[in-house]
This record gives sequence, structure tokens and C-alpha cells, in this order.
Amino acid sequence: MATPPPIRAPVGARLIAPSETDLSRCVRCGLCLQHCPTYLATGLETESPRGRLYLMRALAEGVAQPTANAVGHLDQCLQCRNCEAVCPSGVPYGRVMEAARAQVLAGGRAPLSWRLRALFLRQVIARPGRLALVAAALRLYRACGLRAVAERIPVLRDRVLFAPTVAGRPFRRTGVIARPQGAVQRRVALLTGCIMPLAYGRVHEATARVLALNGCEVTAPAEQVCCGALHAHNGDRETAAALARRNVDAFLAAGADAVVVNSAGCGAAMKEYGALLAEEPDYAEKARRLAETVRDVHEFLADLPFAPPASGPELTVTYQDSCHLAHAQGIAGAPRLILAAIPGLRLLEMAHADRCCGSAGVYSLTQPQMSLRLLDEKMREIAATGAAVIATANPGCMSQLEAGARRHGLRVRVAHAVELLDEAYRDSGAGV
Ligand code: SF4
Ligand code: SF4
Repeated sequence: MATPPPIRAPVGARLIAPSETDLSRCVRCGLCLQHCPTYLATGLETESPRGRLYLMRALAEGVAQPTANAVGHLDQCLQCRNCEAVCPSGVPYGRVMEAARAQVLAGGRAPLSWRLRALFLRQVIARPGRLALVAAALRLYRACGLRAVAERIPVLRDRVLFAPTVAGRPFRRTGVIARPQGAVQRRVALLTGCIMPLAYGRVHEATARVLALNGCEVTAPAEQVCCGALHAHNGDRETAAALARRNVDAFLAAGADAVVVNSAGCGAAMKEYGALLAEEPDYAEKARRLAETVRDVHEFLADLPFAPPASGPELTVTYQDSCHLAHAQGIAGAPRLILAAIPGLRLLEMAHADRCCGSAGVYSLTQPQMSLRLLDEKMREIAATGAAVIATANPGCMSQLEAGARRHGLRVRVAHAVELLDEAYRDSGAGV
């Protein structure tokens, strides 16, 4: 087998500073402001998309320096891309912010917190063995009741709230993980990711069952790695590109009709592999080819189309759009279509369902105050629906909403939308 590319390898200069073309698209109309959670929370131009674009241009041109104050405004951005989705000028805000952060990090003057974050993401999140050790510690912390105690102590409560919930059996399966009972209609490869198999292995099991019930043979390629989204979002595009190369090789070798992803952030990142590796002669064409086959699981099921379940448990459900599904991938209808197809399920829409819950990758850990502010507002809007279940589409959102439910004493369950479809199939007596 060929030696895999190293974790961390050089990328083209284009990826380490926002381009003039991208920056100049902003005409400063301000139409994005009322869609930006941090602007709505603070009322400050510096915490708005327009203000940040102005700052990123000044940093790119060397007019502004990456002082603690300047990078603080970049740090406060959730990278939810709500501004990008509504911008009439087509400013590729996500790409600009990633490049601006990469420029600060590569410039050697990034704050210590940025360098430590990049080191953690590179040395732990991108390395499954080390990440499994962290997950084991978190599992123990929860299992022996320490989390429950810490969350009752006022001085600790807000600090420990966002430690991810790691529960259930880790998902470690590779190769063919599910087959349909009848003829194979589609062959798909599942991205298992880094945190998802440790924290929400049950979602992968549900996804595999649902796909198999709809005629798919599901493979989990053993050579796949973390998608690199967290690294790219935090300015380490070198590590993101190295991980992308490994995934391009692993998933093309699987030869599947589609790569199915049940984590919104990972799906958005994989759909952008073509752009990430565009300057690499050995990978540009392969990355573009792979990216064209990447499908979010809701999108994939809606396009099949999936078989509606014959019955399902009586449930009231509200759906929280994951930012990287609704804004980065433009998918808001497919998850609702799936939920609406479940007999007995009543969908109760919350206000501002497409506004970020404050999770945003590692944002809840790096910006806990703003994250809590957004989460508290989100939980009030969820409580107003009276729903018993919150459905969403990303592990970060699931973990954040679980933390919000504990914080607000809400007796709600948080589930991936595909889990609810899986339960309805099982309620109907369908099985693989
Ligand atoms: S990012 Fe788009 S919507 Fe916002 S001010 Fe610039 S042009 Fe207008
Ligand atoms: S990505 Fe989200 S938080 Fe950042 S500027 Fe855009 S709307 Fe605001």
C-alpha cells in the first residue's frame, strides 16, 4: 500500500490569505447584518459580517496588524455562514474567514490561544488513538457522576457545561457495514469522522440501517480519516489539506456511487475538497471528482427517494437547522421532508430555527460567553414549541443542545433526524 501523505504538508499560497477577488465582492450593503447572530447579540459593526470583512481586507493589505483586539473580532465569528447564504453579492464569507485565519496563523504573530488550538486540533483531533484517550476520560468523567456534580456548582457550571457528552459504544466498524435484504441498488461509502464514532456511534448505526432498508450497500472505508473541517475553520489549512488528500484516496478506492455524510460540518468540508486541493497537480482532479459524489444523508435519502415508514411512534419534534447544512450546503427542506414522512410525528417549527445554537465547532469552548448567550435564546425558543424531541443534523449541535437542555432543566431528547426515521422503520416492523 502507498505511504499516506503526512499530517501537515504545505498548501498553495492562495489558501493562506483571502483573495482580492473574494474581498472586493462586498459592496457594504448591510443586508447580512440582521442575519448575523453576533451582530444581533451585540449591535456592534465590528461583530458583523461587513465589519469583519473590512477588518480582513485591512489585515490582508497589511493596513491592520493582528493585535489581540483585531483577532478577537475574528474569534467571535461563529463561521455559521448565515451571512453568506443571504448575501446578494455572493461574498464567499466562509472561504474568506478561513483564509484570513490561515494568514494570521501563518504570519507567526497569532495569539498563543490560536497556536494552542491549532496544536490540539492537529495533535489530538486528527489522531484517532489520542482522541480515543480523551473520549475515554470524558466517558469516565460522566459515568462516575463528576459532570453532574460540577454542573451543580455555580462557579464551575458554565465552564464544564460544554464538555462533549461521550456515551454509548464507540463505532469501530469498517468494510461493508450494512446490506439490503434484496438487490443492491446503490453502493455508498459512509464518512465516520473523528468525534462522531466516539460520541454518537448510534447515529452511524441508524444511518447504516436506514440506507440498507432503502436498497444501499454501505461501506465504511478503513483508511478514512477526520474530514479536516475543524482545522480549516481554525486557520490550519495545511492539516486540513493533508487530511483531505487521505480521504480522497480512501474514498475513491472504495469505488462507491456516493459518499454519504451524516454530519453537516463534515459534509460541507468534503464538498469543498475540490477548492481546497485545487492547486495540487496530483490531487486537484481527484478531489473535484470525489467532491461531486459527496451527499448529506438527508439530501441523499430525499433524492433516492426513501420509502416512507408505514408507522411510527407518536412524537412532537422541533428541527434545529445545522448551519453547515442550511447555510453552507443550502439544505433545509430534505430533513423536514424526512420528518414529515414519519407517521405519528408532529413537526413544531421553532422561531429562528436556522440561527446558530452557539456550538460552531470548538466555539463553545473558545467563546463560552457568546455561545451561552446564543444557546439560552435557542433553548427559550425550543421550550416555546413544547416539543419532546429536538432533531438536528450535526454532532456539535447535538452536544450543544443536550447541554442546553441540562442547563434549562428541559426534559427533551436530542436526536439526529435519521435516528427518528430509523425508529419509525423499526416501529413498522421493517428490518435489515
Ligand atoms: S457581505 Fe454581502 S450582504 Fe453583507 S454587506 Fe457585504 S455585500 Fe452586503
Ligand atoms: S459567519 Fe455567522 S457569525 Fe460570522 S459574520 Fe457571518 S453570520 Fe455573523
